[in-house]
Amino acid sequence: MGSRYGKRINEEVRKIQNMARSSYKCPSCSRKRVKKLAAGIWECKKCKSRYASGAYKFNVK
Ligand SMILES: [Zn+2]
Repeated sequence: MGSRYGKRINEEVRKIQNMARSSYKCPSCSRKRVKKLAAGIWECKKCKSRYASGAYKFNVK
């Protein structure tokens, strides 16, 4: 395993962490207040709705 490979993994990890930290639009109140609560659990800080979604990215169907 070369150092270039390791660097690429770090960039991927950073990207995933950024996705996990950002706010997403709430399907209930349409405000961008959905934050990650735990792995796979997301909560809207505005209307307190909770959603089960991806561990790192919020997408409710
Ligand atoms: Zn909401």
